[in-house]
Amino acid sequence: MNQDLYIHNSLNRKKEKFEPINPPYVGLYVCGPTVYGEAHLGHARPAVTFDLLFRYLRHLGYKVRYVRNITDVGHLESDADEGEDKIAKKARLEKLEPMEIAEHYARSYHHNMDQMNVLRPNIEPRASGHIIEQQQMVKKILQNGYAYESNGSVYFDVEKYNRGHNYGKLSGRNIEELRANTRELEGQQEKKNPFDFALWKKAAPEHIMQWPSDWSSGFPGWHLECSAMSTKYLGHPFDIHGGGMDLVFPHHDCEIAQSTAAKGDESVHYWMHNNMVTINGQKMGKSLHNFITLNQFFSGDHQLLSKAFSPMTIRFFTLQAHYRSPLDFSSEALEAAEKGLDKLLKAGELIGSLPEGSQTDEDLEEMEKGFYQAMNDDMNTPVLFSRIFEMVRYINSVHQGEAQITGNDIPRLRRLYQVFVHDILGLERESKDDSGELPGELIEMILQIRLEAKKNKDFETADKIRDRLKDLGVIVKDTKDGYEWEIKR
Ligand code: ZN
Repeated sequence: MNQDLYIHNSLNRKKEKFEPINPPYVGLYVCGPTVYGEAHLGHARPAVTFDLLFRYLRHLGYKVRYVRNITDVGHLESDADEGEDKIAKKARLEKLEPMEIAEHYARSYHHNMDQMNVLRPNIEPRASGHIIEQQQMVKKILQNGYAYESNGSVYFDVEKYNRGHNYGKLSGRNIEELRANTRELEGQQEKKNPFDFALWKKAAPEHIMQWPSDWSSGFPGWHLECSAMSTKYLGHPFDIHGGGMDLVFPHHDCEIAQSTAAKGDESVHYWMHNNMVTINGQKMGKSLHNFITLNQFFSGDHQLLSKAFSPMTIRFFTLQAHYRSPLDFSSEALEAAEKGLDKLLKAGELIGSLPEGSQTDEDLEEMEKGFYQAMNDDMNTPVLFSRIFEMVRYINSVHQGEAQITGNDIPRLRRLYQVFVHDILGLERESKDDSGELPGELIEMILQIRLEAKKNKDFETADKIRDRLKDLGVIVKDTKDGYEWEIKR
């Protein structure tokens, strides 16, 4: 920890030196996905941004407890505490249990994040598993006088809270503005003010997800889970809370108000927010036909994509921009990123075979300093990459005999590359490229098709598949129940 890391704190709108409450321990909480659909760029950016922070803090020697929640209940379709629960709606449409929906999309999210080399957080708590903790927090807020019960629901009293505190401090909104901008909606007569938000919602009888409580059979408000679960696992107060910029209001401003109302003061020291993504200059939206999931990027299966882009290309492209800048995705930009990434990884593969020279033409110490300076300046990855590509140019010059490096400095250069490119930026050659091995899922898929062919007595196709797989080193054996396969190299 001989590095001074500066991070931009959204709370004060400026870069501040990072000083943990209880070094070397660091508590990091990031708002995770609401699991009712496949992951898209809006999920990838915060995941990659805070993965970078997690990796860098660990590299600096901190012991980080990284908590990222999974929202599986309480996230309604509108911010005004109205509309259907997003997961319950999907469950109704697909005639599945809500927890089946949540489980399915949580697994698919994990798979996509693994593909992008995003490290798993230490704890991934689910809202539905922390109903008691959330109810206790509601009770505390009621006891402290900052909430009221109305018709079985409990609402946060924004006006009362704002008398002694500053509601909206993170987004910079004030209560007069909110009053002007929120309108009375049908069914909101329960609230004293339309901008009050739900801590507990009474459920309609047909609502699938509901739990008993002192107030009604119902479910927690969406903002509450993060306040309850972050402090359960990281304590009060804790160091860093992150998320996408779209969560600043109302989600994070509500979190601040809830925690302050329940505990007397704020829970979070540093708030960090990543900027949003656009596609071809437009906001992503289902109605704009530019809604591209990560699986579609990885398969190229979307009209706006010229080809498939690998998970590592998406990661690299995301990291090339500073996390607080907007990021525009397009096929052209991703094609350029793909080339850049390949150039970067190829240079890394050359280090081991560089010729030993009589002198080192680059100052490796200065190079290392430059890398750290960029990371310490609020994770300035654009600057870091420009410096890393200077290193790439140097490696290539040595390889071509136009520059030199001594035998002693080669391991040093390799370490520098390893630490920044692999460990901190998390960029790796994707396995299918270097091993030449077919992914197991793909083999399974092909063998399922072969099984179907056999069922249809199309033995010609079945044999062709078996023989082609054998050429690729996959030995298929037919069994009584189907098949077995193994890879022979
Ligand atoms: Zn949250």
